[in-house]
Amino acid sequence: MDLAQIGATPKGGVCRLALTDLDRQGRDLVVGWLRDAGASVEVDGAGNIFAIRRGRNDGAPVLTGSHVDTQPSGGKFDGNYGVLAGLEVLRTLNDGGVVTKKPVGVAIWTNEEGSRFIPTMGGSGAFARVFTLDYLLAQRDIDGISFGDALRGIGYAGPAPVGERTVDAYFEAHIEQGPILEREDRVIGVVTGALGQRWYDCIWTGQDAHAGPTPMEARHDALRGASRMVEAVNAIALGHAPDGRATVGFMQVKPNSRNVIPGQVTMSVDVRHPDDEALATMDRELRVAAAAIARDLRLECDVRQVVEFAASRFNGDCVDSVERAAAMLGLSSRRIVSGAAHDAVYLSHVAPTAMIFVPCKDGISHNEIEDAKPEHLEAGANVLLHAMLERAGVERK
Ligand SMILES: [Zn+2]
Repeated sequence: MDLAQIGATPKGGVCRLALTDLDRQGRDLVVGWLRDAGASVEVDGAGNIFAIRRGRNDGAPVLTGSHVDTQPSGGKFDGNYGVLAGLEVLRTLNDGGVVTKKPVGVAIWTNEEGSRFIPTMGGSGAFARVFTLDYLLAQRDIDGISFGDALRGIGYAGPAPVGERTVDAYFEAHIEQGPILEREDRVIGVVTGALGQRWYDCIWTGQDAHAGPTPMEARHDALRGASRMVEAVNAIALGHAPDGRATVGFMQVKPNSRNVIPGQVTMSVDVRHPDDEALATMDRELRVAAAAIARDLRLECDVRQVVEFAASRFNGDCVDSVERAAAMLGLSSRRIVSGAAHDAVYLSHVAPTAMIFVPCKDGISHNEIEDAKPEHLEAGANVLLHAMLERAGVERK
């Protein structure tokens, strides 16, 4: 709640965009808390922060973490919960005088949200070498300010090389951002992986013409193509129920004039599925549907894939650790696939990884009314603690 005061919005949410002065204030506050918990803090060239608590032995830490940037009309919990749950793990180990065999640590990843700078999950993506640091630093916001300049501006362009640190395992706690746990009245989501995603631009081309003199049968109305495509996209996802998802969320109509038949429409399509083969099938179905609609309406349709994330499957041992911790604490749980991408998805490329979900009110996130119950947040932090302890090993209590 203290962290949520920084960038607080009137409706109870948070606006703390990546690499703004508010982001600096939020980072400074949390880094202060992590230092007070005795962690040694290191910042890398992408602004990722690592707060490490020493273990009996040196070597790769068992890491947790998430992000403290938010959407423009974001909530208090997305990302911030995962970081603060990690802080609570360190404080709890201190309170109990616990010495772990391996070091344990908390990471704060830069620009997870992708609101101010594309790509999303920029810091963890550079860390996992999905793209280069130079690529990340060269990205610009809508005012033309580069990621690199903004990072230096808030004093978080650190000296540590990006991605050279090895990680023994990574566990991330996060609100579910969906309705399943709440609906089933379960406290812990044992996250087994994340949906694969393919994003497309579909460009429908017909012909601009006067809305009056042009007879119905003589038209090449690009918006009719796009309209049928919205239904086709939804039907494709329903054909892959319950795991398939498909969404048209963006549409640009040209010339977008009341008395002109639209000559061109650009629309987005977002397709998701936990199985890469099913995702490939959905891709084929999308292209077949577009071609059939275009033929029928005498239009052209160009389907361009612009983003692809393979489905990620988290590490079996780490997933089991999370499940065991929930059972040991007597908490109800279920296995679940994440519909959204998280920093953990990129971390899973370089370290054994799992995630812990807790319910959020009505499944709503990326919204100022985002909310979660203190007892659920506590339960998730306890599961995180015990999953990390199992992995790190306890030397002395
Ligand atoms: Zn998040």
